[in-house]
Amino acid sequence: MKILLIAVIAWVTLAVNVSSGQKRSANSAPERPRNIILMIGDGMGLTQIYAGMTANHGRLNLEKCRHLGFSKTNSADRYITDSAAGATALATGYKTNNGAVGVDSLGRAVPTILEIAERNGLATGLVATTYITDATPASFIAHQPERGMGEEIAADFLKTDVDLFIGAGLEHFNDRKDGRNLVAELRKNNYQVSFDIDSISRIQRGKIAGFVSGARWAVRGDQLLKSTKTALNILNQNKNGFFLMVEGSQIDDGGHDNNTNKVIEEMLDFDNVIGEVLSFAEKDGKTLVIITADHETGGLTIIDGSLKTGRVEGRYSTKGHTSVMVPVFAFGPGAERFMGIYHNNTIFFKMMDAYQFAEKGKLESKGTR
Ligand SMILES: [Zn+2]
Repeated sequence: MKILLIAVIAWVTLAVNVSSGQKRSANSAPERPRNIILMIGDGMGLTQIYAGMTANHGRLNLEKCRHLGFSKTNSADRYITDSAAGATALATGYKTNNGAVGVDSLGRAVPTILEIAERNGLATGLVATTYITDATPASFIAHQPERGMGEEIAADFLKTDVDLFIGAGLEHFNDRKDGRNLVAELRKNNYQVSFDIDSISRIQRGKIAGFVSGARWAVRGDQLLKSTKTALNILNQNKNGFFLMVEGSQIDDGGHDNNTNKVIEEMLDFDNVIGEVLSFAEKDGKTLVIITADHETGGLTIIDGSLKTGRVEGRYSTKGHTSVMVPVFAFGPGAERFMGIYHNNTIFFKMMDAYQFAEKGKLESKGTR
């Protein structure tokens, strides 16, 4: 009798364990990534992507991503966002007014994912092909009411301990109305300050302030690829992990100019870097890559083309931005969080959830979600 009872208890215990085990695995939280790389194609809507894909005979590196979603991009005060409000939503979780950088719709500074990552001991970096003080990169590190305040935005870089930034816009650092020489101040803060992409890409460790010309693609060559490779090598030396934002800045310019060749050149340049980043993430296994846009530019549609020859015939409905949802592609641990249709600022919270940072609860209790 006693033996039977023990056997029954053992069987029940085993059964409970098995069923709770199954339940756990069915509901298990996504794996925590060590690193997050957020790649923003400025002005990169679905048709910009398909223009690039067609020109490339039907393939892009982007297609390695298996988890896709859509982001609703309207800003706090406009149906159609600009890059400042778009990037601020991604960087801080706040929808703000067009033109605002790293502040909420009332103009109050709000913490960015880069600053929060830094406080949590991660390495951080920003890479762009345009001005590093321009709206998209600025929204991850600066807090200013107007995107045009390049000198104030540059000064905000000095208030952080960002490990690396590479982009154009040197004049906002060393040719300023207030007479401050931020290049000298960066050097005092142990940054290796470099003024061309070849010397930047030779740096193997330490902090980097890299200034490039930000010229158009034909002159720029593989600058974005070299900048990103350097960033990955340096940031990956931090064993706590890293946060990196990479911007394909000038897809937007092609849209504003209604210039399909420019859209394609910039799209393929960005996709080349996407290929590099995804193969880093694939080898690493602990890196979450998110690829999205702040908005679509130009209202581009494709009325004809050829996958065989790579010809694309584009038409535009505006010289400005449009309101259409933009795709979100994710790769690596936690990528499944990015499936579905959601507002752009949700991407911030998805990154916070993925990193499992403690600040998450505080931000949510303030009702910012
Ligand atoms: Zn634009």
